[in-house]
Amino acid sequence: MKHQFQTEVDKLLHLIIHSLYSHKEIFLRELVSNASDAIDKLKYLKFTDDAYKNVDFDGRIDISFSDSDGKKTLTVSDSGIGMDEIDLTENLGTIARSGTKNFIEKLTGDAKKDSNLIGQFGVGFYSSFMIADEIEVISRKAGTDKAYKWVSDGKTGFEITEDERSSHGTTIILKLNENGSEYANRWQIEQLIKKYSNHIACPIYLTYESEKDGKKETVTTQINSASAFWKRSKSELKDEDYNEFYKSLSGDFEDPMFHIHTRAEGTLDYTTLFFIPKKAPFDLFRSDYAAGVKLYVKRVFITDDEKELMPVYLRFVKGIIDSEDLPLNVSREILQQNKVMSKIRSNSVKKILSEFETLSKNKEKYADFYKEFGKPLKEGLYQDFENRETLTELVRFKSTKREGFVSFAEYVSSMNSDQKSIYYITGGTEENLKNSPLLEYYRKKDIEVLIMDDEIDEIVIPSLFKYKDFDLKAVNRTDSADELKTEDEKKSEESAKDVIEKIKKILGDKVKDVKASSRLSDSPCCVVADSTDPSFQMQAMLKAMGQSGGEVKPVFEINPNHAIIKKLESTSDETVLENTVNLLFVQAMMLEGGKIDNTASFAKAMNAMLEKAL
Ligand code: ADP
Repeated sequence: MKHQFQTEVDKLLHLIIHSLYSHKEIFLRELVSNASDAIDKLKYLKFTDDAYKNVDFDGRIDISFSDSDGKKTLTVSDSGIGMDEIDLTENLGTIARSGTKNFIEKLTGDAKKDSNLIGQFGVGFYSSFMIADEIEVISRKAGTDKAYKWVSDGKTGFEITEDERSSHGTTIILKLNENGSEYANRWQIEQLIKKYSNHIACPIYLTYESEKDGKKETVTTQINSASAFWKRSKSELKDEDYNEFYKSLSGDFEDPMFHIHTRAEGTLDYTTLFFIPKKAPFDLFRSDYAAGVKLYVKRVFITDDEKELMPVYLRFVKGIIDSEDLPLNVSREILQQNKVMSKIRSNSVKKILSEFETLSKNKEKYADFYKEFGKPLKEGLYQDFENRETLTELVRFKSTKREGFVSFAEYVSSMNSDQKSIYYITGGTEENLKNSPLLEYYRKKDIEVLIMDDEIDEIVIPSLFKYKDFDLKAVNRTDSADELKTEDEKKSEESAKDVIEKIKKILGDKVKDVKASSRLSDSPCCVVADSTDPSFQMQAMLKAMGQSGGEVKPVFEINPNHAIIKKLESTSDETVLENTVNLLFVQAMMLEGGKIDNTASFAKAMNAMLEKAL
């Protein structure tokens, strides 16, 4: 009997053919996925429905192709549940999904936009019309003895007639058109199955003709690995199994550091299997790094090139997300807005971070992990506000008081009882920072200072402001030591007023301010950033990115108790005073990693002072 396609199908077919063309190879994945679903359905019914108890079950998918008289065909056959006449009419002539009309109305006729929308919808069976002029579906429903044939050219509707099939299941015969002729080929099929359907749970066989000793013979081989590894239960998998799978997945030669295997059931049904490699990948800090997580939908491979599956800072995580709830043809744009996907993602991130927390209880193991992946974790502090608290507990730093890494929690638990802030120093190598004159004061007061020698610290730490009730304070800021000063120290700062005035006159607009500070003990002076200004390193970074917001001048701090400063107070030789102040300033700038602007005048002042000293 002749049938018309439902109007929506007509429109969808037209759109698929015109807008999904660049993804035409997905047709095979769609057919295999349908076949696998049909097998899954029958398997389920056999277990749960008495009417199917006696049906033979041998779940398999068979693919073959032929090329006779220039007519190429590709056949995909399954031993699944099958379809009767009504099923064929309803499943392959209408679109049952709710919201179909609405969806079709949204389509614009612009191929690019539409292909994204179609991705959200899932094209399924109809995608085969991209590569076939005519499709035959021969099907027999399990538990019945009649078979039917559905035939269509994808344009003028379809026809259903009675047919023969030896047992239940469905056979789909594609009469390939020009766009599809390349698929009547053993290598193409094997490659597509490996790429998209390797982990479909039932075996997929390919039958082809092979020539041996001049004789043609028909060969049938299994072409998928037929095990969705991640779907197997944890209890039956050993560490060695995970390691093998990780290696085949990632191409890594080494075993992973550890794995996280999660099965979620309920409102959302998905499985995730993540691996943390032993070593950071070479491209970790390149903007074109390879995404590490593959997306599967119902064990069908969807994409391995989707950076949105994980937040950027977790780009070193390798593995798989397999969702039961997403449409097969989900596109990149859709993934980014899809509620199911974002929920899976957010659950996964939480799970991964909680495993890191567990790992952190073992200091030694965590240090190994942190050496490799600490930097990207810190990026998370400004990328992932949802998990900021957890991440704050996961980051580690070097410190003036201990070897190895220290966490904020450890810092706080061992700090002085009256201490209100966490102190840190940034901007330079570990060696440089540890020798900074700015640390003298904290050493004297027995206060631990975190050494932040990662470039990224400069960006992320100031944005944290606080850890629990404790302010985070950079020691190279004017006000950072104020709360630690004693009355005596404040008095001695007061007493330096006169010399400050002299210095201000000499340095003029090279500085924002000159202040006395008791935080220095061995050094005569230092430069710091005003409490409201960006740090010097931040300024340099902004400048390198072409974003400098105008020049920010340093605050020059002098040590009122230092011999040089005391002598300055009493000297009456104007030239000596001027040369000394200039040299002190240049010296302080150099210690902060600054450049000397006027090297000639620096040399001149230096020579004058040397002459005097000799
Ligand atoms: P989807 O698979 O997303 O539902 P399709 O257009 O691919 O959409 O298929 C429509 C319906 O046709 C399926 O839901 C299923 O009921 C039926 N169908 C397709 N292929 C098969 C098959 N090989 N065996 C049994 N039923 C099938």
